[in-house]
Amino acid sequence: MSSDQIRITLPNGDVLELPAGSTPGEVAARIGPGLAKAAVAAVIAGETVDLMHPLHEDAAIRILTDRDAEALAVLRHSAAHILATAVRELRPGAGIGFGPAIDEGFYYDFDVDEPFTPEDLAVFEKKMEEVIAADHPFLRRRVSKEEARGLFQDDPLKLERLEEFSDDEVITVYEDGPFLDLCRGPHVPSTGRLKHFKLLSGAGAYWRGDEKRQMLQRIYGTAFFKKDDLAEHLHRLEEAKKRDHRRLGRELDLFSTDERVGPGLILWHPRGALVRMEIENFERELIMRHGYELVYTPHVMSERLFEISGHLANFAENMFGAMEVEGARYRPKPMNCPGHIAVYQSRQRSYRDLPIRMAEFGTVYRYERSGVLHGMLRVRGFTQDDAHVFCTPDQVPNEIERLLDLVDEMLRAFGYPYTVELATKPEKALGSDEEWSRAEAVLSDTLNGRGVEFEIDEGGGAFYGPKLDFKLIDAIGRKWQGPTVQLDFNLPERFELEYVAEDNQNHRPVMLHRVLVGSMERFVGGLIEHYAGAFPTWLAPEQVRVLPISEQWEESAADLVERLEAAGVRAHLQARETLNYRIREAETLKIPYMGVVGEREAENGTVAVRRRGAGRKQEVMDRQAFIDQVASEVRSRALG
Ligand SMILES: [Zn+2]
Ligand SMILES: [Zn+2]
Repeated sequence: MSSDQIRITLPNGDVLELPAGSTPGEVAARIGPGLAKAAVAAVIAGETVDLMHPLHEDAAIRILTDRDAEALAVLRHSAAHILATAVRELRPGAGIGFGPAIDEGFYYDFDVDEPFTPEDLAVFEKKMEEVIAADHPFLRRRVSKEEARGLFQDDPLKLERLEEFSDDEVITVYEDGPFLDLCRGPHVPSTGRLKHFKLLSGAGAYWRGDEKRQMLQRIYGTAFFKKDDLAEHLHRLEEAKKRDHRRLGRELDLFSTDERVGPGLILWHPRGALVRMEIENFERELIMRHGYELVYTPHVMSERLFEISGHLANFAENMFGAMEVEGARYRPKPMNCPGHIAVYQSRQRSYRDLPIRMAEFGTVYRYERSGVLHGMLRVRGFTQDDAHVFCTPDQVPNEIERLLDLVDEMLRAFGYPYTVELATKPEKALGSDEEWSRAEAVLSDTLNGRGVEFEIDEGGGAFYGPKLDFKLIDAIGRKWQGPTVQLDFNLPERFELEYVAEDNQNHRPVMLHRVLVGSMERFVGGLIEHYAGAFPTWLAPEQVRVLPISEQWEESAADLVERLEAAGVRAHLQARETLNYRIREAETLKIPYMGVVGEREAENGTVAVRRRGAGRKQEVMDRQAFIDQVASEVRSRALG
């Protein structure tokens, strides 16, 4: 074999010999014309590259087609360039920032004077179609820093980025027709590969997310390989809009924020507070059954504690500032762990005390940039359903078992299917390889033993230990952050946690952090969207609304309300306004049941029941039977 040949290994083990400098596109063509046509990009040594990327060494290669998840990001990033191509054609003066692919699509940031309007987006979309029709190839070129400075002399944001490259870094530019971008790639072969896309919205965004820098105008869009996938995605976005917890939160009078209170700080209204109370009551019962003990720890603690925990050194930028009292500095707590550790260390612990499972609905405060705050989902103050398990190393497998039971019971109560990820050792990590692989094995063995499918998030663990991440899948298929179970090699060391073992010596306990809902704010925000505001009866702030047809039957209706309340049902009488108005109001508030009382119902001791979502249909029921039915639905926490 001559030295200008390279050996390319395919996923099935086949080896192809090609001249050095060949591209993945040529590899695909060698395999077959079908693949050559379907190819989008390639993966070499874990990195996604263009089809035109020249190969100079032997390599294992995987060709990506529209069936591969990695290919979608390549398409979407290319769509961002096509958007920028269109915008620059129409607005030659628009400065350009970044244009990455994101989870659900892509965006591009432009430096322009005025925000973009929906009409602008429609015009850009048309222009994008032209760029696509022209089928410009995406051309990659390596350039020197000096050359790049010349190419982007009119783009100050690109120049700023350029200056951050070290001198030995590879700098590449991509060209598609008239547009040139400073970009690492990869891209699809040509603009014609983009077929199914949509521009969705515009929004202000600070350059590099820094509120001290200028405001850019971001355009969000999405793209898919298949028409149906795009249609489904757009439908889901429509659904999501209807379910937006901020809108429903207002309409159902659940929560609000107030500028005088501060951004990202939630005011729970009585109706929202009832939903939260039900969740907390349920969870408290549940965890007591699972062997937890409740504690309460202060909201504000001395900085000394956060020095020991390492939060000041590693987490300070997410913490609220210090306040001084009698010369000592205090901070609102960003996490509950240090407080729980202080409880653990309040006395000597013996192996006979372990495991200790300590739980708290602990409110924490974290600084989040105002630009990322979002309703109840991203906030600055939130209550975690936090718990820490202190146990001996031998007890870990059993504790993981119990945690999986607990998570399952919790999530089933709200009707969430879920997925599990095991996040493993990152590059920078505390603890030995042995410790890590033992801990990871405990987690994966327990999952396997129960037949739970899970994915591995390679290197995704925190520096102080591996974790299990549960993702909830909501009613319209979106994933939400759910429970986490985190092993911790760090805090027991930092705080020098100990217990006296059977050998009468001091040993270090293992510490597990776990949350079930995570943040109560985010969980309730998510539940509002999951149920579209129509909470199952047990969670509904108001469970029955009783409506007398006219004033004459008010007394009889009030009697029904009293009996419902005595049975533990949240019921209200609404006698003002016309019956139609009152029915509409109860529908808007998504109350599970309406009980209508007229002459016949008053005389016969019955009630005409309207169920939420059943339209005008009503069923005349014996009052006691109705009360029993609702009360049992509430007691059993039925999902309805
Ligand atoms: Zn790019
Ligand atoms: Zn913790």
